[in-house]
Amino acid sequence: MSTKLLVKGGVAVTMDQKRRVIHDAGIAIEDGKIISVGRSDDVKGFGADEVIDARGCIVMPGLICSHTHLYGIALRGSGLNIKPPSDFLQILQRVWWPADEALTNEDAYATALAAGVESLLNGTTCYADTYSAPNAIEGSLDRIAKASNEVGIRGIISFEATERRSKKEGTRGLQENLRFIARKDKGRVMGMISLHASFTVSDDLIARGAEASRKNGVPLTIHVSEGPNDGYHNMERYGKRSVERLHDQGLLSSRSVLAHCVHLDEREVGLVSKSSASIAHNPMSNMLNAVGAAPLLEMVDQGVNVGLGNDGYVFDMFENMRAAYLLQRVARRNPNRPSPEQVVEMCTVNAARAYGLSSLGSLSKGKRADVIVVRPSFLATPYSGSVYGYIVNGVRGPDVRDVMVDGELVVRNKKATRIDVEKSEAKVLKTMGKLWGRLGSSPHDAVEPLNQGQERR
Ligand SMILES: [Zn+2]
Repeated sequence: MSTKLLVKGGVAVTMDQKRRVIHDAGIAIEDGKIISVGRSDDVKGFGADEVIDARGCIVMPGLICSHTHLYGIALRGSGLNIKPPSDFLQILQRVWWPADEALTNEDAYATALAAGVESLLNGTTCYADTYSAPNAIEGSLDRIAKASNEVGIRGIISFEATERRSKKEGTRGLQENLRFIARKDKGRVMGMISLHASFTVSDDLIARGAEASRKNGVPLTIHVSEGPNDGYHNMERYGKRSVERLHDQGLLSSRSVLAHCVHLDEREVGLVSKSSASIAHNPMSNMLNAVGAAPLLEMVDQGVNVGLGNDGYVFDMFENMRAAYLLQRVARRNPNRPSPEQVVEMCTVNAARAYGLSSLGSLSKGKRADVIVVRPSFLATPYSGSVYGYIVNGVRGPDVRDVMVDGELVVRNKKATRIDVEKSEAKVLKTMGKLWGRLGSSPHDAVEPLNQGQERR
């Protein structure tokens, strides 16, 4: 039996090719697909099973997070007892790498469940996740897929292959991705290839990752020049800038998504542009880690496709959009760029393009019905001016009222419909308590000193 849904009366921010904004819109959905987008009057004879009254609301495509680590939610408020890091590499060495090493498959499931629910309630309908747990690699992606499917959110998920401890670890990470990609019945989740960063992987692993992405027709993601150490490493070892090295190893293509790219020079931005690779920009995380502001305006001007990510930090893409909008203004002292419309593009159409998801990213005929209905808590001004400005300056995740994925209402009136949030919280808290216990007893002060962590073999 087919289900017919009608979302009626809202202001539709379609993000379609013409960037139509339709007041008193009617969006007809059947069998999980959008079959028409127009004025309410245009869909009068549709005969819906359910009508969603969107009067006073913004209706827009579900937001897509171009780069996340769902397990990042595990350290929220953790107050680790460690020697304070003084740069980005030390943040990895003292905070994230010890945490990664403590993770189990139970943690993979619990963190994906927590971050999945929070993302969905805040209007994210799809995320690109990279997981890391060197002591529990095999089977981890099945656990993340299980949690994502239980919540009802879409995911492009991966295990971050790295050779920071051994060559073998890199191969096992790559294998976990390939095993998951080959798995049948993945529900709303798909696999991809992920490499950690150019300073923790050899040329050989880069080449094997690129080949696996090409052979399987799946995206490949890697962290690039998040902090300056990435560039130093490649100059010292290979005499090349980071992007230049990835280019020479055949990694850059329309299937690759480079996360961060904070420390790229103009030539590197040009190489990314020419190769049709995409960049996942993570402004909130970049601020948190004090790594600087990415050359976003240069990327846009050179025609690079830029999506927006949260890097496992704040699971509210409205906040991340606002940060992208504000950070460039601070860094460049330019009050005009990027425009609100460009920022919304990064979280919808650009993100879909980055991962080759041509059926997502806009409200247009034939696309999958991933739709969100947003009602700000107090409507002080009409939407008739710049609705993009309204979204970027004035909307928060908790303003999201309804969320549809494949035309299924996975959030209705701010409540998740597939799972019991209270029960899930109890389950997650129990698991996180155990993880924090393990982290408390781990020898954080004994981590490798600067510049030696990645040398261990
Ligand atoms: Zn990341």
